[in-house]
Amino acid sequence: MTDPSDPPVVRIDPPEMLRQGAPAAVLAALPGARAVGGAVRDALAGRPVHDVDVAAPLPPDAIAARLREAGLKVFETGLQHGTVTAVLNREPVEVTSLRRDVLTDGRHATVAWTEDWREDAARRDFTINALSMDGEGRIWDYFGGREDLAAGLVRFVGDPATRLAEDYLRLLRFFRFHARYGRGAPDAAALTAIRAAIPGLARLSAERVWMELKRLLEGTDPAPTLELMRESGVLQAVLPEAGCVAAVARLGAPPDPVLRLAVLLNGAGGAEHLIRRLRLSGDEAKRLRTLLAVPAPAPETSGDDLRRLLADVAPPIATDLAWAAEAWDGRDRAALRRRIADTPAPVFPLQGRDALELGISPGPAMGRALAEARRWWWEGGCTASASACRTMLRHAAGLQ
Ligand code: ATP
Ligand code: MG
Repeated sequence: MTDPSDPPVVRIDPPEMLRQGAPAAVLAALPGARAVGGAVRDALAGRPVHDVDVAAPLPPDAIAARLREAGLKVFETGLQHGTVTAVLNREPVEVTSLRRDVLTDGRHATVAWTEDWREDAARRDFTINALSMDGEGRIWDYFGGREDLAAGLVRFVGDPATRLAEDYLRLLRFFRFHARYGRGAPDAAALTAIRAAIPGLARLSAERVWMELKRLLEGTDPAPTLELMRESGVLQAVLPEAGCVAAVARLGAPPDPVLRLAVLLNGAGGAEHLIRRLRLSGDEAKRLRTLLAVPAPAPETSGDDLRRLLADVAPPIATDLAWAAEAWDGRDRAALRRRIADTPAPVFPLQGRDALELGISPGPAMGRALAEARRWWWEGGCTASASACRTMLRHAAGLQ
């Protein structure tokens, strides 16, 4: 059922994701529905489609009713934005009414429902994100998204300055999508508007900023984009602690946002401030602190030093430290990483129980004695036997 006044521009084989499961059921249940955003973009780019968002020219309550009639579960997850989550066999699909913006304030929008696909596409951020596709693979492209995708150009839909002032998060989204789809020189009009919009970043919540940065940092090759952010003054605004982008380019490790952030900071200081400002999660903060606090292992690290390192940090952290150190000083550590993988993590052989058995009474003095014995074991390269450690513990507790 295609509106003759709104013809599709092209048809492709719909991706597997659209032909089965929950997305197919949603498209079948809602007349005129189409997949939108990332799924269409990635299908066109020949990239794996990981999740499908659907839009439909119906108000949210009509969408919910039709989906339920078709036997899907419906959760009203974001009704004020016009979004419901449809679930079939535990597979969720976000379904949104077509919208146009009524009011924007730099981050949030008040929206109205529309039946006009072009209006819905016009409020999306970039031309490559404004494509839509029906269940048969017919594609609608109102703003030249296919051409931009083929050219590797991330371009705002409409006037960049206006679109940034509506929602400053788009400033960071620009760099995330540029890192993933951009080739060659970025859109000059976008960069000019971005430079002028930098003060607006202050309106974004820390969580949103970190979420976007994280998505950039977990991509395939963020270094050239980080460099572009520095040239535009954006990196200084969101990550004033950032040191050396070139080190990120040298990092050979699998994509990992926290490791890349650590490499970017490169001992420049200010990590605690950054952790608080961007509200990193407890786990992220802990890893970042460790990666910055533990001395970088040299390629020729001795067996004793390697065991000491593995006694202090888990093997994956030791491997990350080796990757980071290599990025910082450019000295290859492939052999060191293999040695880390082949070296069992040493464990101090004594516990509180052993101290009790030796007749040491429980309390802070016992803790201090155990810590002292462990220190001795650690300094000796983590190889002393349990009985040697026991002798040391007795001595540390003043028993002889
Ligand atoms: P990814 O593969 O990273 O999930 P995506 O395109 O699906 O990419 P989302 O952040 O999931 O990105 O957003 C889905 C779609 O919603 C986008 O493709 C875009 O059309 C629209 N969109 C999301 N955020 C904004 C925004 N801040 N301004 C305008 N449109 C947006
Ligand atoms: Mg998405």
